[in-house]
Amino acid sequence: MARSAGRHAGSGCGRVIAGIIMLLECLIIFMMGAVIGSFLNVCIHRIPDGKSIINPPSACPACGKRIKPWHNIPVLSYIFLGGKCRYCRAAISPRYLLVELLTPCAGILLFLKSGLGYAFFVQCILAAVLIVIMFIDIKHRIVPDVLSLPGILVGLLLNAFIWQDCPNFSLASLVNSVCGVLAGGASILCMGVLGKFIFKKEAVGGGDVKLMAMIGAFIGGKLGLLTFFLAPVLGSIAGVYILLKQKQSEIAYAPYIVGGAFISMLWGERITTYLFPC
Ligand SMILES: [Zn+2]
Repeated sequence: MARSAGRHAGSGCGRVIAGIIMLLECLIIFMMGAVIGSFLNVCIHRIPDGKSIINPPSACPACGKRIKPWHNIPVLSYIFLGGKCRYCRAAISPRYLLVELLTPCAGILLFLKSGLGYAFFVQCILAAVLIVIMFIDIKHRIVPDVLSLPGILVGLLLNAFIWQDCPNFSLASLVNSVCGVLAGGASILCMGVLGKFIFKKEAVGGGDVKLMAMIGAFIGGKLGLLTFFLAPVLGSIAGVYILLKQKQSEIAYAPYIVGGAFISMLWGERITTYLFPC
């Protein structure tokens, strides 16, 4: 009896320690994610203009003054400066804060789903590229080839290996990745052709096709197809509101594809098992 009680106390203590370790890991991922989010903001701002994402250092778009490192602390600087430039007090887009919060939140969700491993590393790379593409498409209505095309190659390369103590080539994983490229790209291409036939105008942009192919390269055929089916569901929910509110005839579609990809990465296996039990 006493031995049993001791064992329970021990396992309880172990659970508390495991909980504290997980909390610390989430905290570290949050801080790293916020720093990466700050860099993603630079990418979102500069890539559409074809500018370098490394040089020059960050400056205020309104007054051009260089932003000092201590005025560029992710999340905190935006809050303490009230969303305004330190020098000219020009308003800074809330997008900066949003990306610095969204990136670490995505990182924590992926960590809780996959743990710290190779899969987490691969998913984080995709998540970072998707966040950049989503915000660029919202502002400029483009999905830059400079992100999606190399993204397809990187997705194939990363999936050609599985990591068990050391990287091992996996033909099955690579084939799944190639199927993802084909299924992702072909599904939305067919939708575009069908849309053009029915509505007599361009329904899907070429950028969305390359984006879907990139997502498929990272998450494989099954989850790539799930993303394709989830995107219009998310789009029809948000799109109707945007069309009514902004009276625009076109909406950026990449955010819905990105939303679908995140749902697929986080809960895709569960959704497909639920929908297709056999
Ligand atoms: Zn300024």
